[in-house]
This record gives sequence, structure tokens and C-alpha cells, in this order.
Amino acid sequence: MSEMKPAEAAADDQDWAAAKAFFDNLKTKVPRPPKPQYAVTIAVSSRTLFNMVAERKIYEEEGVENYVAFQLEHESEPLKPGAAFPFVKALMNVNSRLRELYPESEELFDIVLMTNNHAQVGVRLINSINHYGLTIERFCMTGGKSPIGYLKAYMTNLYLSKDSEKVTEAIDEGIAAATMFLPETESNLCDTQLRVAFDGDAVLFSDESEIIVKQHGLDRFFEHEKQFENKPLAQVRHGCSSARLNSGAREREAAFHDESRAGPLKCFLEALGKLQRKFYAKNQRMDCPIRTFLVTARSAASSGARVLKTLRSWGLEIDEALFLAGAPKGPLLQKIKPHIFFDDQMFHIEGAQELGTISAHVPYGIGQKYHKGKLIEQPEKKN
Ligand SMILES: [Mg+2]
Repeated sequence: MSEMKPAEAAADDQDWAAAKAFFDNLKTKVPRPPKPQYAVTIAVSSRTLFNMVAERKIYEEEGVENYVAFQLEHESEPLKPGAAFPFVKALMNVNSRLRELYPESEELFDIVLMTNNHAQVGVRLINSINHYGLTIERFCMTGGKSPIGYLKAYMTNLYLSKDSEKVTEAIDEGIAAATMFLPETESNLCDTQLRVAFDGDAVLFSDESEIIVKQHGLDRFFEHEKQFENKPLAQVRHGCSSARLNSGAREREAAFHDESRAGPLKCFLEALGKLQRKFYAKNQRMDCPIRTFLVTARSAASSGARVLKTLRSWGLEIDEALFLAGAPKGPLLQKIKPHIFFDDQMFHIEGAQELGTISAHVPYGIGQKYHKGKLIEQPEKKN
């Protein structure tokens, strides 16, 4: 390689600086996606954003060639909204409120579409995104490979998919993730406020107390919670890679290890809290477009204090805490109408779904081994 003379090198630098300035100064009315280090990044799979049940059926029954041909033929026909669609729309609404208050800030939600679809199908996805006016600039074509590497590269704060294996893999890697389900009936959701409902144990918190309920029953659990009321819920089990607004790589690394005691969704609640505080700082607490709910089967009197104290010890707020003392969650969620409800136990998901709540299963903790309090027979693991 020939060496560059100093004058040529200087000219080259100048060219580069001019080119960079040109692109930096390009004006567009289309909002640009924020940089991953500032954004709250939500990765959604194409099958959660859009309802692709019919298309999937063609893929499974007729094979990939017919599937791609069908998608090409229907390229200009927008896909129907899927389970994550109302949630994504609500995120966009929060973004426009944030942009009004902080025009220069990149602390916004950023949506990444994860898909292992054939590139040809990408055109139908893009057409559908444009049809609904969604701001999704980042596409990630995984080509059927594990999404973990991409989720980490995009610094993902929440991953939503229909594939529970990929979701489990993400959770094992310390990424907040959930498997989404479409509700059986549709309900009208608020279009001015993003509403997110979380279960407590094994979702925001570790499954430490859930283990006691499952293995020793409720009385032992109540005693345990009373005894440890002032000790935050903890479990050295889960990592968290997404506490990252405005923090450098080293801080994030420290946060990853420090937070190895929280439930898988804690980081996402934290990210929502950081954006909520931006509204509070502009005196918009009462009119904040993000509202969070804790919907737990715990009862307030016997085991509620510990969860509230745990949240306080983490410096996290939740707008409404609802203690159901074992009552079904579905009817209450029907009133809250969240854009997404996270729970680790499938029977709560099923109950919520039946009554029209968009639900997301967090496959984490001891609850995965039980159904309605009964131990599920586990198939023997093959090595
Ligand atoms: Mg739970």
C-alpha cells in the first residue's frame, strides 16, 4: 500500500469532514431513529406486530416457495394488526409527546422489527408499516438464526415474539422478553396513554417467594414475607442487560452484575420510569402519557408491604398497585385496559386473554413447572 503524503491526508480529512457535515445537516421532516445508547429499544417480531396466522398456515402446509409467492402476490395488501400493534402505536404516541417537549433529545422509544422472513417478504412488511404510519426504521433479518446477538447489538430493552423458545433464550441472556398472545375479544384501548401492567413475583421480582408458595404453601409464604418484610426481594439468578439510558459501557456492565437479583422485566419498568420522569420534569405528572400498574395475586395486608418496599429500595415507582389476594386477574385487567400485561403464569395469561387483555408470557422461574398449583410432568431432558 502506498503511503499517503501529509497534504493528501489533510485534503482527505477535509473531504471526510465535509461529507459528514453534509449528512449531519440534511433536513428531513421524517423523525430519525434515536441512537441505541439513548433509546428505549423495543424489538418486535413480524408475527407479533402483524397478524400473520393465515400466511403462517400457508408456510407450514404448502412450504416456503408457495408462502413467498403468496406474500409477493399480496404485496400491496397491508397485513392485519397483531398482538403487539396497539402497544407499538402507544409507544409512537409517547414519542410524539416527548419530541414536543424535548425536540433535541434522543431519549425515545425505538422499535426494531425482528424477522426471519425471506427478503422478498420484506416489501410487504415495509408496505404494511407505511400503511399504518408506524415509524420503524430498523429491520433485522435474522435468517432463522438465534436473535440474541442482534438483540444485544441493538441494546434491546424489551423483546416481544410469538416464539417461546427464542423468548426463553433471551431471558436466559438477561434480556427482558415475553411471548405475546392475541386476546380472544377486542377492546378499545386508550390512544393517548401507554398503559403497561406487570405481575410482581417472577416478573418484576425474582421467584424467591413464589418458590415458597409452590413448595410449602401459603401459610409458610405469609410467615416468610412478614419475617423478611424489610429485606428487598432478591434472588441471585437473573441478569439484566438493559439498564442503559445515558450510561456508559462500564456502568452498564456494573449494572448487569448488580441487578442480578431482579426479575426479568424490572429493567423495562426502570426504562419506563426514566421516560416518565421527563414528563414530571415539565410539570406533566397528571398528564403523563405512560402509566404503570402492578397486578399481583398477593394480598395487601399479609404480603403487600414487601413488594412496595422492594420497589422503593430500587428507586422505582409504579403508578397503581393492585393486590388481588388470589382473585382472578382478568376482570380487573378488563377495567385497566393495558396495551400489554406481563405474567409468568400461563393460567393468569389465559384468564386475561379470555376477557380481552393483550397478554405477554414471561417464561421465567418456578411457575413454569406448575399449572394451577399442580406440578407439570417434565419430559426427561435428552443430552
Ligand atoms: Mg408471578
